[in-house]
Amino acid sequence: MYESLAGALLGATAALGLALAGILVILIWKKDRTRKLSYLRFFIQVVSLVGIFYSFTLALWLSAFFLVIFAVTFFSGRFFCGWICPFGFYMDIVALVRQKLGIRYFSLPEKVNNSLNKLRYVIAAVILTAPLFLGALTINPASGIQALFLRGPFRPIDILLSPLEPLIVPFTGSIANLGFNGWSISYPYARDILTYISVPNVTLILIYVFIALTLISTFMFRRFWCRFCPTGISIAAANRFKALKWMPLLHINKEEEKCTKCGICKRVCPVQVTDVYEQKGGNIKTSLCLNCMRCVEMCPYEGCLKMNLANKTVFKSRNWLEPSNSE
Ligand code: SF4
Ligand code: SF4
Ligand code: SF4
Repeated sequence: MYESLAGALLGATAALGLALAGILVILIWKKDRTRKLSYLRFFIQVVSLVGIFYSFTLALWLSAFFLVIFAVTFFSGRFFCGWICPFGFYMDIVALVRQKLGIRYFSLPEKVNNSLNKLRYVIAAVILTAPLFLGALTINPASGIQALFLRGPFRPIDILLSPLEPLIVPFTGSIANLGFNGWSISYPYARDILTYISVPNVTLILIYVFIALTLISTFMFRRFWCRFCPTGISIAAANRFKALKWMPLLHINKEEEKCTKCGICKRVCPVQVTDVYEQKGGNIKTSLCLNCMRCVEMCPYEGCLKMNLANKTVFKSRNWLEPSNSE
């Protein structure tokens, strides 16, 4: 009874939030309030988290989520990463706390960042196939490849969906059953570690070490896990199909003649994408970009950077250096 009421309330909150988010998008777009994009992003991240939690209470077939994310990525680039992903949202909150404490972030040296970018498919493959090598596999090889991937204990789809894990999940069996009333405390990838490394006393330690490491690294470097995340790397691959050159429909565009090479876009980018700064004008189509629009929000020259949807400008940078334009 209590759970169905809570579920209905969550569903109503998610629906109301989505409607409000839509109104906010239209208002900000119509009034050209590019400098308010961070508030809009925060709002959409909260609504998405409630919506995703709600879908966990409904025990939806979560695997379908990944197909939806993948399909959306074809059209909107990595909008999911910039605006929806719960793990990305937690990382943004950690960064906000750091900022409020007045502590500066670190940036990865450009060489290290470039090497990570080059190795990203290898990193994703290692993380996704790691369970095969952990010795926790109990599948009978005779039962075939379909059982191995879809019904057996090795399910890369679970790892791919891990960033969607809310911090409280509406079922037991997550981090050591810490929780209340049938709900548990959770954390992205905690269930995968529980599933694949079932060694008494070691599993829990590993989960807490993973939580501590991701939190500390995120406190120091913005969106740290996004540089290794197999989900982000896999959906980024959706943007690399040369056959679909007109995709994604949502992308950043730069007007070279308005750029003063001030470097702000490079500094504010949470994953240290340098293409916006380096590329001569035109559409920026790197698959590393999260489409978070932070660079569009912060570029200080009118119309230098734009977020285009099917070649129509949705948001453009404002000349906020002049007091009359500082909103
Ligand atoms: S890269 Fe991974 S963790 Fe980061 S926002 Fe995308 S899906 Fe989420
Ligand atoms: S913030 Fe704008 S003006 Fe400055 S380097 Fe980037 S694109 Fe050019
Ligand atoms: S390049 Fe711009 S839109 Fe892309 S991730 Fe960096 S700040 Fe966000």
